[in-house]
Amino acid sequence: MADICDNAQAVELLLRAEALDRARLRPAGPGPVYIDGVACCRTCQEPICSARLKAVPGCCQCRECQEEAEGS
Ligand SMILES: [Zn+2]
Repeated sequence: MADICDNAQAVELLLRAEALDRARLRPAGPGPVYIDGVACCRTCQEPICSARLKAVPGCCQCRECQEEAEGS
């Protein structure tokens, strides 16, 4: 009985670790669009500043468009 419980727990931990890995690899959406090698906003095609890219890896919009999308 203890074996079955241990196995179930191990499987759950494994699945959770996999899900976390997946979430970490793909933070939010498909990421920016690259124009001439520059990461650009998917909405307005303006370059996304490097500070924002560093702060929000995989972000796909510039701050203005992100705020508009999240806006009230
Ligand atoms: Zn934008």
